[in-house]
Amino acid sequence: MRSLLERLFLPAFANQWLDARHDSAVMRIGAERIAFTTDTYVVSPLFFPGGDIGKLAVFGTVNDLAMAGARPLYLSAGFILEEGLPLAMLEIIVASMREAAAAAGVELVTGDTKVVDRGKGDAVFINTAGIGAAADVEISPRRVQPGDVIILSGDVGRHGIAIMSVRKGLSFETALESDCAPLWQPVSALLQKGVDVHCMRDLTRGGLASALNEIALDAGVAIAIDESAVAVCEPVAAACELLGLDPLYVANEGRFVAFVTAEHADRALDVLSGCTVSAQPRVIGTVGARGDAIVEALGALGNPRILDLLSGEQLPRIC
Ligand code: MG
Repeated sequence: MRSLLERLFLPAFANQWLDARHDSAVMRIGAERIAFTTDTYVVSPLFFPGGDIGKLAVFGTVNDLAMAGARPLYLSAGFILEEGLPLAMLEIIVASMREAAAAAGVELVTGDTKVVDRGKGDAVFINTAGIGAAADVEISPRRVQPGDVIILSGDVGRHGIAIMSVRKGLSFETALESDCAPLWQPVSALLQKGVDVHCMRDLTRGGLASALNEIALDAGVAIAIDESAVAVCEPVAAACELLGLDPLYVANEGRFVAFVTAEHADRALDVLSGCTVSAQPRVIGTVGARGDAIVEALGALGNPRILDLLSGEQLPRIC
């Protein structure tokens, strides 16, 4: 996907906003700084423990706005419906989107529906775009500096494993749900408390390892993390072992990393601890020198491994 972006889309449309390579484009319109983003949701199955495609389509886009330091305000939604989709199923998805929009404090203000022939879609695909009011401070990969501290907002892997549990018919002793949640509240708290946040990224497809690789590449820095500081709950760890997955690459829908100055790391931990969706934040690593964009993880025994950008998709149709 990244090479498709590099070779096709980015050169075709090159501009300062796209070149920032962030979760949202932030542009000035009159006196206002506006964040704008879009994402398409093809998750399979449509319903999974802790969420469904509708909830994901709202929170995913809201979170891409939040990662640029923008308060989510308005969404659009485009639905691609396969002929024969039961109306009752669509009603449940729409009700879920309405609830998610209310929880995230956004209004769905415009939309579209298209129907495709039976067999030419897969029940329902949803595209959402979002607009938010951006803070008057740049939060993007190009602000990442050597010495920045990397804070992870919670444990990893819940969303991907919740999806896989349905696909593979796994059951767990303790209930495992997707972490799917809106992230504006902790972001807003960080900004209000004056934490100098250089960059943030939500850990969606490709998980923590992919997010760190993207930022290392776009900021042109080395990143080192302490793998033992990355929390993985018991059912996720067990399922990853069973399925041969690396939890650092498994998708999340309610977790993010924040790159903050070393002086502000304690304050950031304090602020995040006070928010339900980021109640167990941890410092997981630091930004090293400029130059080689490399992400290194130190294991519990101190043996380092390189976290590569995966060439294939580890888990297709996870969001
Ligand atoms: Mg994102």
